[in-house]
Amino acid sequence: MRAFNFSAGPATLPEPVLRQAAEEMLDFRGVGASIVELSHRGAEFMAVAAQAEADLRTLLSVPEDYAVLFLSGGATTLQALLPMNLAAAGQAADYVVTGHWGKTAIKQARPYVSVNIAASGEADGFRGIPPRAGWQLSADAAYVHITANETIHGVEFRDIPEVGDVPLVADFSSSIASEPVDVRRFGVIYGGAQKNLGPVGISFAIVRRDLLQREGQSRADIFDFRSHLAKDSMLNTPPTWNWYLLGLTVKWMLAEGGVAEFARRNARKAAALYMAIDGSGGFYRNEVDPAVRSRMNVPFFLRDAALDKAFLDGAKAARLIGLKGHRALGGMRASLYNAMPETGVQALIDFMDDFARRHG
Ligand code: PMP
Repeated sequence: MRAFNFSAGPATLPEPVLRQAAEEMLDFRGVGASIVELSHRGAEFMAVAAQAEADLRTLLSVPEDYAVLFLSGGATTLQALLPMNLAAAGQAADYVVTGHWGKTAIKQARPYVSVNIAASGEADGFRGIPPRAGWQLSADAAYVHITANETIHGVEFRDIPEVGDVPLVADFSSSIASEPVDVRRFGVIYGGAQKNLGPVGISFAIVRRDLLQREGQSRADIFDFRSHLAKDSMLNTPPTWNWYLLGLTVKWMLAEGGVAEFARRNARKAAALYMAIDGSGGFYRNEVDPAVRSRMNVPFFLRDAALDKAFLDGAKAARLIGLKGHRALGGMRASLYNAMPETGVQALIDFMDDFARRHG
C-alpha cells in the first residue's frame, strides 16, 4: 500500500503516472525497448519530448514569445547560468531574499554579477516578505530575482511584485503549476522539476525570447541558453527518462483540469492544514506571516520538541511519510504539491489531532 508522502522534493508523483511508467518500462508502446534505452534522436523520444513541451506550454499558458528549455543540473545550475546569460560581467543584479533558496541563488550568481540585496527577510527569520515599497533596486540591474516560493521557510509571494522594465526572474521550483500565473509579468521562470512537474534530474527555464539577444558573458557553449534553444534542448544527451516522466506528469495535470483546478485544491489543502495548526491551542505552531504562508510547503513545530521523534514514528506507522523538517529549521514540514490528494492532507490532520489529544 502506498503511503501519503509529504516529502519536499523529490516528492510524491501521481499514481497514474507511476503506473503508466511501470507498464511502459519494458516495452515502450510496442517498440520492444524502454524509452530510457532509445536514442534521444529517434522518432519515439523526439515525439515524447515535443509533446511534453507542448503540454507544458498549454498547462502554463506560455506565450509564443517565450522559449521553453529543458536542462539538467537542477535549479542550482540555472542560478549560475542566469547571470552568465542575462548580465554583462560585473553588472548589477538585484536579489530579494525571502529564505534559504534566495541565498543559494546569490551564492551561485556572485562570481558573475555584482549582487545587490535589494531586500531580505533574514533579520526576521524569513517569516515574511519585505514590503515592495522598501526594496532598494539598482538603476542599472540586469534583472530582479525572487524566489516565488521558499521550500524550506514556507514563504510564498502571493502577488507578483512590480519592478518596472527590468526583467523579473523567478525561481518557481516549488510552486510551478500550483495556480495560474501570468507568464508575461516575468523575464524568466525557472526551477527544478522534482516537486510539481515530475522527477529530479531535469529542470525548466521559460525565457522571454528577447532576453536571449543579450550578449551575457564569456561562457562555454554548454552554458549558453541560445545554444540549447537552437538544438531544442538536445545540445547534448538530455535526461530522457526524466523528460518522459515530466511529460506524463504534465499530461495528468491537464487531464485533472489544469492549474485553475489545482489552485482550488491547493487552497483547500493549505487552509485545512493551517487551520489545524492554528487551532491546536499552541500544540503545533507555524511562524510565517499568514498573508504569505506557502500553500506548497508548511513548516510547523511541536510545542515540545522532545515529542518530535514520537510524532514522526507515529506518522510513519499511520503511513504518513516525509514529514521531518529541513535540518536548517528542525521541526516538521508537510509539502502539499499537486500530486498530494486532499484525502492525504485530511489523514495528516486526523493524525495530528489525535497525537495532540494523546500528548497535549
Ligand atoms: N530553489 C528552490 C525553491 C528549491 O526548493 C530547490 C530545491 N529544493 C532549489 C532551488 C535547488 O534545486 P536543485 O536541487 O534542483 O538544484
